[in-house]
Amino acid sequence: MPNDLYGRRKNSAGFEFGHRDSLEKLMANVVKGVPAVQAVPLIPGVSSKGAEVPVQSPSNHAVKVGSVRNATAADVEQAFAVGAKGFRTWSRTPVDARAACLERMADLLEENRDRVLALLAAEAGKTLDDGIAEIREAVDFCRYYAVEARRLFGTATKMPGPTGEDNRYLWRGRGVFACISPWNFPLAIFLGQISAALVAGNAVIAKPAPQTPLIAYEAIRLFHQAGIPEDALLFVPGGPEVGAAIVAHSALAGVAFTGSTRTAWGINRALAAKDGPIVPLIAETGGLNAMIVDATALAEQVADDVVLSAFRSAGQRCSALRLLFLQEDIADNMTTMIEGAARELQLGDPSLVTTDVGPIIDDKQKAMLEAHIADMRETQKVRYSGKAPDGGSFFAPHIVELDSPGALTKEVFGPVLHIVRWKAKDLPSVLADITASGYGLTLGVHSRIEATIRKVTDALDTGNVYVNRNMIGAVVGTQPFGGSGLSGSGFKAGGPAYLQRFAQEQVISINT
Ligand code: GLU
Repeated sequence: MPNDLYGRRKNSAGFEFGHRDSLEKLMANVVKGVPAVQAVPLIPGVSSKGAEVPVQSPSNHAVKVGSVRNATAADVEQAFAVGAKGFRTWSRTPVDARAACLERMADLLEENRDRVLALLAAEAGKTLDDGIAEIREAVDFCRYYAVEARRLFGTATKMPGPTGEDNRYLWRGRGVFACISPWNFPLAIFLGQISAALVAGNAVIAKPAPQTPLIAYEAIRLFHQAGIPEDALLFVPGGPEVGAAIVAHSALAGVAFTGSTRTAWGINRALAAKDGPIVPLIAETGGLNAMIVDATALAEQVADDVVLSAFRSAGQRCSALRLLFLQEDIADNMTTMIEGAARELQLGDPSLVTTDVGPIIDDKQKAMLEAHIADMRETQKVRYSGKAPDGGSFFAPHIVELDSPGALTKEVFGPVLHIVRWKAKDLPSVLADITASGYGLTLGVHSRIEATIRKVTDALDTGNVYVNRNMIGAVVGTQPFGGSGLSGSGFKAGGPAYLQRFAQEQVISINT
């Protein structure tokens, strides 16, 4: 298989895309064979006394995928103590050796892809397409950050200066970094944050989302197998109270967080409230992502891109399309096509190759979506409600027509598409409405008029803009991902400026 610039193998993760038959066989063997996983905190010297919590499959509540023993306050304390020691050795390990561990991790993910894919389906409800894409993204993060670390941190830069003085500029790790990740990309985002923090020379305390500790535990064990020292990567599972204890710790050197804007505010406040080192927060949060479609767009392509952007992964991507602006002249026809395409989607068991849309992560999220639709029925027009299967946390795609964009003020994290109509002369007010939301993660534009595309892209600061295509699935190293405003602090994951945020600079000036 050919390697690209970053050493990524095309179709990395080793799957032959498009061969659905072989995938079907694979999953038939693999899903049945997922042995129940027991995840425990991985902190040298700790045998946790935390409560054991069962992990059930979101697509079938009768299936227990495994269990997790959550970390206690004492475990968190011990993780910082061990991590501080681990940092001293790991931060002095040459960059090349750190990067090589990431490359070994990529190989191990590929070697273990069957088991990882099965866990993604069982624990996170990932469809096969989503699971494969996620493994590929995780592999890409490892390979990309390895190359980037060598480029950025490999050698000290000799700075210009007066004769008789030698000035060297270099990068070092910051200390014990916390990586706090979401359930919607329990492998790729979890591992992307960790690999960036590690390769920049930090020790890492990794806290996965409480819904997806098992896949995270597998990833940590593979990292250790890949050569990351056990005292440089600590696994600290748990809920918000564990996150709060980590963030409040005086020895914390930085936080990488992906999740809700509200939680990011909380972390920011906690960091500001404590004494100790002044540390960075790298936050990737939500979006109220819009797509603008004008009357010149290609209808079939729009229908395809809208359905993919709004409903793939059951809309559980922070990049997903939430608010579709359709120019009035084409709105009726377009909405009918989109409804027709939504009706074709197969919902159900994520491990079947025929399934397009899997479950919602849990009943709490599902209840939030149901409450939203109940609200919408009171004041707006719900145009399409799909039918959800029983037995798990399923919620089918919905399409709601809004009377104005102001009717949607918060991110609704699931398969709900909101449509608003606009008149050609009103493009400036559409742009103003999008800006007014305060979010800035992804934006879609469908138009065949270059001047319109330019007007839209010039007017908005949104982090990732997609023109005449779908608006999800950013590719590492190709579409560095992350937003502005309420959507995050930057820098973009999978991009050339990401790793520096995890490191600190030093200048050594020697009078020779
Ligand atoms: N990077 C993912 C995408 O482009 C979204 C990540 C997220 O949902 O947090 O679709």
